[in-house]
Amino acid sequence: MTIVPRSRLYRLDPAGFGTAFVESLTSFIMRLAAAHHLTPGQLVRTSLTALMRSSRGADLQIGEIELTAAFANGVRSGARMWLRAIEEATTHDDLARLTALPWARVLSGYHLLRETMAHCPLCLEEMAEAGLVYEPLLWAIRLVTVCPKHERVLELACRQCGRTQAAFRWNGRPGICVKCRVWLGGADASLVTAARNELQVSQAIASMLAAPPRPEVDPELIGSALEAGMADLGVTQSAFALAAGVAVPSVSAWRRGLGKIGLPGIVAMCAVGGWDVPAFLDGRVVTVVDGPAPMSSPLRRRHLFDWDFVRQRLVEHGGDEPPITQVRLAAELGVTVGWLRKQLPGETQVLIDRRHEWEIARAKARIEMLLALVVSTTLRLLESGRKASAREVECHFPSNVSLQEPRLMNAWRQTRLEWQLARDETRSKAA
Ligand SMILES: [Zn+2]
Ligand SMILES: [Zn+2]
Repeated sequence: MTIVPRSRLYRLDPAGFGTAFVESLTSFIMRLAAAHHLTPGQLVRTSLTALMRSSRGADLQIGEIELTAAFANGVRSGARMWLRAIEEATTHDDLARLTALPWARVLSGYHLLRETMAHCPLCLEEMAEAGLVYEPLLWAIRLVTVCPKHERVLELACRQCGRTQAAFRWNGRPGICVKCRVWLGGADASLVTAARNELQVSQAIASMLAAPPRPEVDPELIGSALEAGMADLGVTQSAFALAAGVAVPSVSAWRRGLGKIGLPGIVAMCAVGGWDVPAFLDGRVVTVVDGPAPMSSPLRRRHLFDWDFVRQRLVEHGGDEPPITQVRLAAELGVTVGWLRKQLPGETQVLIDRRHEWEIARAKARIEMLLALVVSTTLRLLESGRKASAREVECHFPSNVSLQEPRLMNAWRQTRLEWQLARDETRSKAA
């Protein structure tokens, strides 16, 4: 029987696709719910929860799903889970562009999304006039503080009741305050002058959203770009790190392609180098004339004040599979390993232990796999009339494996011995 793929939900088209104002996944789900005359919460419970459970195992609780909604626009596994469920339910296959997932190979989740959704009242007003109100992914990005189109500071809360708006509102709609239900748009909203630098950063990120990197771009490619860019500038690593306000060990790790970089680190380094942000995230160094000026980096400020935030990011890595290494973790948080162990010893130790256990399990699985390979290869050669010498058997192994490893050597000897004994026994019976 052939099962024809069928969409469980309307195949609603995302707004602003392929532009800097591409719709966020959370906005898309809220609009999808409205199209079905459901609240977003009802839509999730009736159509999406089952899909998420089937992709993550049946024990996923609705509460856990609710917790991940805040990260649905991001780069972590929660975003992947939401994306898969929505794509399956709508038979779309290109909705990754509604999240930061196209950058997931190179961009860490650190300092990427704000906890709530910002908005530009002027943009909302224009959308209402055009008959399509949605919340762009741009408004979910923490470093975007200014509307690149209207050059006005983004609003972080409802002007009427002061309530901030979660990106995914279980009872909400794009452009409407979740608490007092007032329209968040407004052409007469008083203008707050934007700082030039913040506008430039917001514009750089807007152009980034319009141009995702090639799928093959990885931390190593970014590392090479950083290396080439720094060589071009002719600065030392420590001078560069100081100017960008990031830790020297982080720059050193990133140059070697170790680990992803947070968006604040990317923006700060591009500002120092005068590099185009989207091109850099595509592994290329392109000099821009009018980029943002180097500023005091959010990373540096965070060193001094935002301890809870670092701790929270660290705890979030507790569920990584495979568990993150210390070096990578430190690089991702923009700090040194020593500093991490000194400031957050307990939390760091938990991650170190998890990684240690994982490495032991991996080593065990490897040796078991190799033992099975030794036995099967030796037997196969003996059965086909070969001598199955050490050298002969080794020819069938991956190049980094040899019978020098004592356990493998023993298994080889044992297998040959047993085979010979069995053969002798058969012969004597026959005689
Ligand atoms: Zn705007
Ligand atoms: Zn309100």
